[in-house]
Amino acid sequence: MELPMPTDLDRLFIDLSIRFDNRPRRNEPLAQHTTFRIGGPADIWLTVEHVDELADAVLLARRRGVPVFILGTGANILVGDGGIRGLVIENRAGEVQFPPLEGLAPGAEVLLTADSGVNLPGLARRCARRGLRGLEWAAGIPGTIGGAVVNNAGAYGSDMAHTLYRVELLSPSGTRVWQPVEWLEYGYRTSRLKRSAGGEWVVLRAELRLVGDTPANVEARLAELNERRKASQPPGATVGSMFKNPPGDYAGRLIEAAGLKGLRQGGAQISPVHANFFQNLGDATCRDVLVLIHTAQTRVRKLFGVELELEIELVGEMEP
Ligand SMILES: Cc1cc2nc3c(=O)[nH]c(=O)nc-3n(C[C@H](O)[C@H](O)[C@H](O)COP(=O)(O)OP(=O)(O)OC[C@H]3O[C@@H](n4cnc5c(N)ncnc54)[C@H](O)[C@@H]3O)c2cc1C
Repeated sequence: MELPMPTDLDRLFIDLSIRFDNRPRRNEPLAQHTTFRIGGPADIWLTVEHVDELADAVLLARRRGVPVFILGTGANILVGDGGIRGLVIENRAGEVQFPPLEGLAPGAEVLLTADSGVNLPGLARRCARRGLRGLEWAAGIPGTIGGAVVNNAGAYGSDMAHTLYRVELLSPSGTRVWQPVEWLEYGYRTSRLKRSAGGEWVVLRAELRLVGDTPANVEARLAELNERRKASQPPGATVGSMFKNPPGDYAGRLIEAAGLKGLRQGGAQISPVHANFFQNLGDATCRDVLVLIHTAQTRVRKLFGVELELEIELVGEMEP
């Protein structure tokens, strides 16, 4: 009997197993790795702990012509029930270089360098404890630095566009380059990286601009913003805001006015607390959520003539 020829995927799995020992896995269920708890399997799954590992894994996949998806904490994606073809890299590169704090004058500007896999709310808390101001807005935003740089994550009047100084990227040609914040051409929850074809540019590290203050001041501001978030945000498995707010209005207000608050489809529900949050009640499929998305968009268009644009990203194959 003839053995089947190895595919590019098989070859990549071998390359990765040589470089990363037994760390790559096959057919990893992605529902375990997204905040929505939804998503079929990744063909190959690898967790990286360092930016050099991240760059190496991407380059190995490119050499084999296998598509790559970089996953932060999966807090802004809806993964299809069919999963993601190719390599999914979970980014845990977690080094942070804090600026020297001794003798730092209040109000003085400093730079902090963080790997793209650093947890964003965790970093906001660590900065507050050190008396570094400027990242409090991020304390309640689940995700990594990489995801925040790509999405221009933001809240309470600030965002990455206002905090980032420059970013280190792995370019489509495989070189490592630092680019200033202007290069990212930031807009509301979007960037040049988000608009480019998936996986072309990889965020390796980010340099953030922060300001010296007292830990008490920064921690107080952080606690205040956390309270505001707790009061308005529904708990449970979600991806945050489903739609961008249309100019001059709120997506949640429009969906509620269309009478859709609390609507259920299979295991998914438009939150009864905040209509721009969709929840997985336990066994939701991507298809369930897509039905709710379609219903919200259609009803809001028909009633108010407003086009609701997704804030989250649909990723992978929708059908199992
Ligand atoms: C409860 C809740 C509340 C939220 N509140 C807010 C909020 O207030 N404001 C807000 O802006 N967002 C909010 N979000 C959405 C989400 O937290 C942000 O979009 C966050 O930045 C996503 O980061 P992530 O690391 O999980 O990205 P992922 O969802 O894992 O990835 C998002 C995209 O970025 C790409 N990407 C990730 N890392 C890299 C990298 N290193 N290089 C290249 N591409 C990369 C991915 O491939 C994907 O295309 C909320 C989400 C939840 C669940």
